[in-house]
Amino acid sequence: MVVLDEKEKEYLLGKIRDVHDFPKPGIIFKDITTLLNDKEAFNFLIDHLTQRYKSLDFEFITGIESRGFILAGALAAKLNKAFVPIRKPKKLPYTTISEKYSLEYGIDEIEIHIDAFDTSSQNPPKVLLIDDLIATGGTATAAIKLLKKIHVECVEACFLINLKFLKGDVEIAKSTPIYSVLEIF
Ligand code: AMP
Repeated sequence: MVVLDEKEKEYLLGKIRDVHDFPKPGIIFKDITTLLNDKEAFNFLIDHLTQRYKSLDFEFITGIESRGFILAGALAAKLNKAFVPIRKPKKLPYTTISEKYSLEYGIDEIEIHIDAFDTSSQNPPKVLLIDDLIATGGTATAAIKLLKKIHVECVEACFLINLKFLKGDVEIAKSTPIYSVLEIF
């Protein structure tokens, strides 16, 4: 499948702003609003993902709140796929199913609408999962578990940025293909 060459990766990486000590001391926050704010760069990214996924067999794109929505929504429109949001607790109005996961301090949770996918057929619906960034992998792991719970197959988990040094991708890669547009070592 299509991947970017080094020059293209450098181009996109150069559009992402590092914000030091946000949201707390010691964290380098990868701010993608600067990429989204550049129409050539944003289009370049979505075109790349379109090329990569146009021939893969799946029906839905699910994005994780909130920056995952931006990428997943744009790609779903381009590829003529349905979009399904995975959200933080108490944001989705209808009946939900949820998955808890551990954070550095405490516990977080994500939710999806119980009827987001038609699971009545023998073949499970196929989904592409998208988020902006994978750090510890806790959020993406919980999202994949959530999809499994409702008998949906995740064909690939796609991230704009993978903070490789945190090894958040290692466990996920054992069960689900992962694609990261940019990797930070
Ligand atoms: P994790 O569950 O640790 O893989 O964290 C992934 C989620 O937290 C993603 O939804 C990211 O948007 C956000 N996130 C974690 N670390 C960063 C970071 N350094 N820069 C920007 N977003 C981050």
